[in-house]
Amino acid sequence: MNQERLSKFYKLAVIFVGGLCLAWTFFNLPKIVFSWDFLLLLVFALLVTPRMSIALPRSKFILSFSDSVIFLAFIFYGGAAAVLLAAIEVAANCFYLRKKGIAFGKMMIFSNVAISVISTAVSFAAWSALTSFLNLDVKFTLTSDLIAALGFLAVVQFFTSSSLVACLSSMITADSSWQIWKRDCFASSMTYIAGASLAFIVYKVIESANFLTTALVVSVMGIVYVNYRRTVKEINKSIAQAEQADREKNAVVEWKAQEVKHHAAELERLLLKEEQINEALMQSKTALEHAAYHDFLTDLPNRTYLVERLNLLIEIGIEISHKYYVLFLDLKRFKSINDRLGHNVGDRILKLVGKRLVRLLRKEDTVARLGGDEFAIILNDLASVEEAEWFAARVYEKLTQPFFISGNTVFSDLHIGIAPFDAEHHKPEDILRDADIAMHHAKDNSVGTAVFDKKLRALYLEKISLEADLRFAIERGELSMHYQPLITLKDGGLMGFEALLRWNHSKKGMIPPTQFIPIAEVSGLIIPITKWILGETCWQIAEWQQLAASYSDLLVSVNISGKHLTDESLVDDVRQALENSNLSPSSLKLEITESATMDNPEQSIQILHNLKKLGVQLSIDDFGTGYSSLSYLHRLPFDALKIDRSFVSEVGERGENSEILQTIVSLAKNLRMRTFAEGIETEAQLAVLQNLGCDYGQGYLMSKPLPTFQMEKLLYQNHNWLSAAETETSASPNDAATSFSSTKSESI
Ligand code: C2E
Ligand code: MG
Ligand code: MG
Repeated sequence: MNQERLSKFYKLAVIFVGGLCLAWTFFNLPKIVFSWDFLLLLVFALLVTPRMSIALPRSKFILSFSDSVIFLAFIFYGGAAAVLLAAIEVAANCFYLRKKGIAFGKMMIFSNVAISVISTAVSFAAWSALTSFLNLDVKFTLTSDLIAALGFLAVVQFFTSSSLVACLSSMITADSSWQIWKRDCFASSMTYIAGASLAFIVYKVIESANFLTTALVVSVMGIVYVNYRRTVKEINKSIAQAEQADREKNAVVEWKAQEVKHHAAELERLLLKEEQINEALMQSKTALEHAAYHDFLTDLPNRTYLVERLNLLIEIGIEISHKYYVLFLDLKRFKSINDRLGHNVGDRILKLVGKRLVRLLRKEDTVARLGGDEFAIILNDLASVEEAEWFAARVYEKLTQPFFISGNTVFSDLHIGIAPFDAEHHKPEDILRDADIAMHHAKDNSVGTAVFDKKLRALYLEKISLEADLRFAIERGELSMHYQPLITLKDGGLMGFEALLRWNHSKKGMIPPTQFIPIAEVSGLIIPITKWILGETCWQIAEWQQLAASYSDLLVSVNISGKHLTDESLVDDVRQALENSNLSPSSLKLEITESATMDNPEQSIQILHNLKKLGVQLSIDDFGTGYSSLSYLHRLPFDALKIDRSFVSEVGERGENSEILQTIVSLAKNLRMRTFAEGIETEAQLAVLQNLGCDYGQGYLMSKPLPTFQMEKLLYQNHNWLSAAETETSASPNDAATSFSSTKSESI
């Protein structure tokens, strides 16, 4: 059975029992109830008592006169009259409250009436049973009897009615009857006690006083009641106002608390956000710091890091002298690896180089990538330079082992310069420069490693000063051209000249091309210088072609540096020189060294083809000293091949050691190239070359390179180069040198 049906059933049961009690009451009503004074009490219970309840401030206690009326009825008219009065009074009370707006269902009114009837009847029955059981002769006029009776009735009535109400409530709510009784019903005991007390007073007044006194007492009590009621009302009103103010205050407090909570949450959110931002900033700061001091490709420390570390070592000073060493590493021909195999492979090699170096190093050493294919190592606390050399040899050995990348086996080579720290190093650049000088020394001498010494620094400084002077050499007229005849070996005819640059330094005198050409190449000066050479030589040959009909096909061979070969401007420079001089393109031959071509064959092929389109002739210089790959040689658009001097000089007086010459000549023939031989100094060498079928030759045997005016003189004399070989050889080699100084006016 659900709660609703149970409570309904309970109410019906209560109403039924109440009805039985009421029925019994009707049958047992004493005659005295039909008197005016009972009627008066009835009217009082009907109209007055419902309006006379007072709710005491701040308590559940309601002071009501209804119970006192019931108790009075009991004392004056007996139990049945009291039950009747209880029924009428509760019904009147319910209707009065309903009129005041309190909702009462019909069943609720009946059950309230029934509870009141039952509790009054039970208290009456209990009292009767008690008195007859104890055989008591109760006289209400006796104060003790009156108190006992009223007290007993109040207690029994309270327990009965509160128990019935608690049971009913427990069926409606989830709480137990005991909890409800304790919490809600116990306070109503005061109502019964107050009712009994009031009934006691009223009874005593009625019993002991005459009409006047009674009227006086009633009036005084009325006034007291009215005043008391008003006071209570005012107290309740101010309590209600205070409570309202309290509620409003609490609402404000609660609102403020909510606001604070909201702000706190917002603050927490902002703090969290700030924390996240700070964390992100920290991360990016660390990443930035890492990026600032590390190389993005190999993740090794970079130049900045190395410089800071060197600075620190320099600050430590004297103690580090001869204990710390810097190694400068430069990978050889790395550019050609990049060009041939692509930048991806190049990058992977650089990474692998970094890894190999890290594996080799001790904890206290530092390795950094300076950029491109350059690395540097700081070796800490070594006992001697031999130790540093031993370490460099290990590095060399490790890095020259092949790399296996994407199916390619890549061989790499490198040069290492070693520089020991010394007291003369005031800044990181000083020690790095010394290590770099040592590395260049290794490069120039084609060795793996070289140790720095002060003589190398002097050479380096000399180079720097030469480079500075070379910048102004053209303007100062210190550069000039010498011409060395190119002879047809079959008949000794003059086919042309090789143009060779000379630098007559205003203070240092003649500087050999082998010394200043590399400086011009490294500094990039070779490009404007070659442009000047092209203009100068094309113009000169065009002039000489005019001297005689037999010279009209003379050719000039100009050396082109490998640096220039990677520069697009070369084609334009050649075109412009030809246009300015009106020289036929076929009268210009460009000599490009084998190693320059092979450094970057793909790019060389392109530029060489563009040059070929101009109509000029192309020749490989110093053939045999580079690393020509035959497959490339086949694709390069060369017309001629010039055998390096070293192979010619090998040939002895009886023509021995000519095998390599023979091989090169037949290779050139197979490639359909004409052959030139340089450095012919003896008749035997000439004879061997003639026998091998080499087409052209040049050498001191025929003529040294000569300044313009001397060569022009020979041209006028229609010189016979082969027959004059003997004479020329015996001529002082200083001829040319003498003429350099005496022909200053001819230089540019
Ligand atoms: P190269 O192009 O192989 O020039 C031939 C070199 O051999 C010249 O040296 C020449 O004087 C020398 N030579 C010729 N016949 C003989 C001989 O019978 N015996 C000996 N011992 N030497 C002989 P040079 O003029 O000192 O030039 C050296 C190198 O400098 C040249 O080698 C070339 O690579 C470079 N060079 C000279 N002038 C120029 C130039 O105008 N431009 C460029 N890019 N390089 C140049
Ligand atoms: Mg040459
Ligand atoms: Mg040569």
